[in-house]
Amino acid sequence: MTRDRNQQLLESAERHLLHNYKQQPIVLTRGEGVRLWDVAGNRYLDMTAGIAACPLGHAHPRLAEAIAEQARRLIHASNLYFIEAQIRLAERLAELAGPTMGPAALGKPDRPVRAFFCNSGAEANEAAIKLAKRYQTTVRGQDRVEVLSFEGSFHGRTIATVGLTGQEKYRSGFGPLIEWGRFLPFPEAGDFSCLEQITEATCAVILEPIQAEGGIRVAPPGFLKALRERCTATGAVLIFDEVQTGIGRLGGWFGHQVEPGGGVWPDVMSLAKGLAGGVPIGAMVACGDVAEGFAPGSHASTFGGNPLSCAAALTVLRVIEEERVLERVVTVGEHLGRRLEQLAQRHRALPAGRRAIGTRGRGLLRGLALDGDASPVIGKARERGLLLSVAGGTVIRFAPSLLVTTQEIDEAIDIIDASLAAVAP
Ligand code: PLP
Repeated sequence: MTRDRNQQLLESAERHLLHNYKQQPIVLTRGEGVRLWDVAGNRYLDMTAGIAACPLGHAHPRLAEAIAEQARRLIHASNLYFIEAQIRLAERLAELAGPTMGPAALGKPDRPVRAFFCNSGAEANEAAIKLAKRYQTTVRGQDRVEVLSFEGSFHGRTIATVGLTGQEKYRSGFGPLIEWGRFLPFPEAGDFSCLEQITEATCAVILEPIQAEGGIRVAPPGFLKALRERCTATGAVLIFDEVQTGIGRLGGWFGHQVEPGGGVWPDVMSLAKGLAGGVPIGAMVACGDVAEGFAPGSHASTFGGNPLSCAAALTVLRVIEEERVLERVVTVGEHLGRRLEQLAQRHRALPAGRRAIGTRGRGLLRGLALDGDASPVIGKARERGLLLSVAGGTVIRFAPSLLVTTQEIDEAIDIIDASLAAVAP
């Protein structure tokens, strides 16, 4: 019966959905913590958390209750009026970003951290780019148009954000995209010469603190700090795309706050994914004079900052704080890092094309890098009941719930171990 339903849904999907996703023939229907079930009754161990969008795992009781409670009172009201949950969320983000983006970091007590809300990561980046452009032209009176991003980056699928995404596979077929975007090479240790391309003519630079979709690529030590200094010196707006690295994923509230060596702060930060625990939301957080770039009417979103998503986000932030989740992310993340390193050692001698060549990442955003396509290994793991995602084509990505336990990590590692062996020629 359930198998028939599975088949019928897959056939309907084939007919009625646009073919824009590479989907597995699994119809998910229910979740709890790090477990998911499909309509055929199969159970999975989920190490993807909805592509880093469910920091509290699935069906967290406090989140479910907060959403239900808010839905009973008010789901949507528009931005023609103020919304209490939106104001509270902006307040909370200002508190959390304050140490690195606020008056303390900037020495400008009259320039608070401000937030704009939307519905996705791409929209948050769009807002950040628009804010930077309007700040340069309107507040500073400067004719700066060029926005720089990095090769290997991922910033979203709208025309502007895909135009700034430094991976050809996402851009192809949509050109010509934007004429005011350009890519800098991803830096190598000891060679930060790409920074010289940031000049007094640069409007803004956008960067992920760790490149996630690009393959969990971590910039060499000191690069983010040098980038900050270059942007300050040239007057370019520095945007950190924290859509995947924010909300605890790297072991700090935001990825830039746990950058080794410290001293790195953005003018603007984009958030989405984990912020509301799986309920669609995006946020652009800005500080200093840059936050003055928008005036009434400059930008808007019908659903942005609606009571439902903001109530969900406030609950996510509350649970992370009350259950000391950031500390857990550091310790459980280190355990994951160690276990992946052991796995990499064990599988270093496999034949070319399936060899593990290293581990990458921080906190609970980590990857096992192979020297070939990671999809066959992920496919074998799925047959064994483990859900993983690929990053950058060759990296097996771990981005589980931030509440994952070391036992659940060990269970996943054992399955990958067997899956790597199973696909080895
Ligand atoms: N920026 C980064 C770093 C991302 O990882 C993603 C999504 O994977 C996005 C932006 C786009 O977010 P969304 O899919 O919510 O538009």
